[in-house]
Parts: sequence; C-alpha cells; structure tokens
Amino acid sequence: MTSNSFHLAVMPGEGIGLEVMEAAATVLGAVEKRFELSFHQEHIPGGAHHYKETGAILPKDGLERAGKSDAILFGAMGWPDIRFPDGTEIAPQLDMRMAFELYAGVRPIRAIPGVPPVLAHERWKDIDLVIVRESTEGMFASRGKGEIIDDKEARDTQVITRKVTEQLTDFCCKLARNRRETRGTPGRVTLVDKANVFRSFAFMRKVFYETAAKHPDIDARHHYIDAMALDLVRRPWDFDVLPTENLFGDILSDLGAGLIGGMGFAPSADIGAAHGMFQPSHGTAPDIAGKGVANPTAMILSVAMMLDWLGERHGSSAARDAARAIELSVDHAFGTMNLRTYDIGGRHGTRHIGNTIAELIRNGQADPQ
Ligand code: ATP
Repeated sequence: MTSNSFHLAVMPGEGIGLEVMEAAATVLGAVEKRFELSFHQEHIPGGAHHYKETGAILPKDGLERAGKSDAILFGAMGWPDIRFPDGTEIAPQLDMRMAFELYAGVRPIRAIPGVPPVLAHERWKDIDLVIVRESTEGMFASRGKGEIIDDKEARDTQVITRKVTEQLTDFCCKLARNRRETRGTPGRVTLVDKANVFRSFAFMRKVFYETAAKHPDIDARHHYIDAMALDLVRRPWDFDVLPTENLFGDILSDLGAGLIGGMGFAPSADIGAAHGMFQPSHGTAPDIAGKGVANPTAMILSVAMMLDWLGERHGSSAARDAARAIELSVDHAFGTMNLRTYDIGGRHGTRHIGNTIAELIRNGQADPQ
C-alpha cells in the first residue's frame, strides 16, 4: 500500500549529533512541504550524558518506541569521558544494530562535486562505491564477551554465520542491481575478506559465492582486506558494492570517508529485514561540539537514504523524489554555489549548510528532472 505519511523516531544524541540533526530537520521540513510528505517525529533522548544523568543509556521504553517507528533517524551518541564502570564506551547505536538485527551497514562513498579532491587524480570525481559493513556479527560478536585469562592472555572470537552472510550477499546483489539501473554503475559485488588465513573468512567466501550464484546478472568477486586498503587509495573509482565483515567495514568506511573529504560527507544506513536506522558515519566529535562548525552533509545525506528506503518499502515515489532532490541540492550547493564547510577549510557553519540546502529544495532549483 502506498503511503506518504511516516512515523520517525528521531534520536539526535549528543555532541555534534544535536547540531547536525537540527540542520537535517530543516531539510526534512523543506522536503515535507515540497513533496507533500508528512512526518510524525517522535524524539527519543539517549547517550552518554543521558547515562550520567539517569543511569540508563536510553529511556526504559526507548528501544521499543524506536522499534515501532517507520524509520529511525539517529545523530551521534557517546562521549570519551563518560564510560561504563568497566571502561567501555557508551554506544547505544551498537546495541540497536543488534536488537533490530540491522545486518547491513550501508556506507556510500561518493565524490561530491566541488569538495576539494583528496587524491590528485583526474578520476577522483568518479568515486561512487558503497561499503556494506556487516553489523551484527564478525569481531563485534565478542563485544562485552571477550576474556582476559590470568592477566596473561586476552581473547575475542569472531563469528560468521551462514544466515547473515546469505542475507548480506542478497542485499548487496540487489543494491548493485538497483545502482546499475539508477546510476549506471557496473553491477559488481566484491567481498572483502581474509580467506587466505582464517577459516571463518573462507566460510564467508564460500557462502558468498553460493548465494551470489542466485544472482547471475551480478558480477561477484573477492578482494583481500589488505589489498583493498591499498586499492581504495590507488583506484577507488574501480569499485561498486563492497560487502565485508564488521570490523573490516568499520575501518574501511573511515578510509572511504577520508577519500571524499572526511567524516562530515559520509552518510550511512543500518538496514535489517524489519527496521532501518539512518545516521552519519561520524561520532559526537567532542573537539568541535557546541561551536556550530560541524558539517551536517553526512546527516542530511542520511536523511536522503532514509527517504529512499521508505519510498521503496512503502511504494512512495514522492519519498524517492525527495531523496533525489536532497542529493542534487547537496551537489548543487557544493558544486555550483561554492558552499565550503569548516572541515574542508571553509567558513560555512552547520546552520548555514542546512538552511542553504533547504532553500534549494523549497525553490526547486535542484529538482530531479
Ligand atoms: P566514534 O568512535 O563515535 O565513531 P570518533 O571518535 O571516531 O567517533 P568522530 O566523532 O567520528 O570520532 O570524529 C573524529 C573527528 O573528525 C572529530 O573529532 C572531528 O574533528 C572530525 N569530524 C567528525 N565529524 C565531523 C563533522 N560532521 N564535521 C566536521 N568535523 C567532523
């Protein structure tokens, strides 16, 4: 059934999460009007400061309320000085990935026109790939469960399951197909692993190829993680969809963000069978929090990813058009209007970016053709 009305759980968090969410809300307001969408926004607090004040990282019913929404819009949570008694960081986003089985951490790495090139190569502008970080198992399966034996040895165990690897592969093949249709990318899925050393990765690769065989139109390949670290710097324009294990994906997506101007330009979506959570790839950035200088582009592009996902799930072409308008407005703002955020040496603050992109959407200057 088609719906243009959506219930959103909005979780700004803390640090720059609050600031970039405010800019994203301005953009959301603009697309709501222009594309005749309707958003019911339910705000849910949470994070390290919430933990300090209340003893809990989220309100008691926070997870349940978020789970009942159509989509979760998440800013950033966590603070270096506020930790659990065992010294580990407060990261409700990791708990939510597990609780809602958000196995696909989708991190598009796309060169935005006008953002100064990081690589001195003419093909820099062709960078358009997606890292898909498996987000419920891998090395992170040991989070909070590792052991230290007699102060002499420490162990964390990696877990790779057939079920999740099949889900991840299916997801990536569909994503590559969709990108081929909408963006003209090659329809190629490259598993990033270390199957030459570890049994768990050899198993992952076997299941990957078994599952990819059900998608004969997709070009399925593999690449070792170490070689990928090299090639993402040397020739990132050659890659399309890159599924990988949780920890590898964590690291590679920061590398990817570095390629396109930094964390402020890297959006993300955490997708499961029943839920979707959308957040920038960056954290709370305490060093710049409260100064109004954070780059909200990653958060704004995460809103676009949310609208695309909602549009697909609910048959809403208005939501999909709104997603495209946000992306085009971002490109127009940086590529044509010389918008420059502080992280790339400019002087445009968080609010200015949000207002400019919202204005472009309102006046239809960057509408999809
Ligand atoms: P986490 O572990 O939660 O991912 P982190 O410790 O890796 O967080 P981030 O908050 O992601 O740190 O960011 C690292 C640094 O990058 C920040 O300290 C900040 O200087 C810069 N940074 C991150 N996001 C932005 C942004 N949106 N705009 C400008 N600079 C940013």
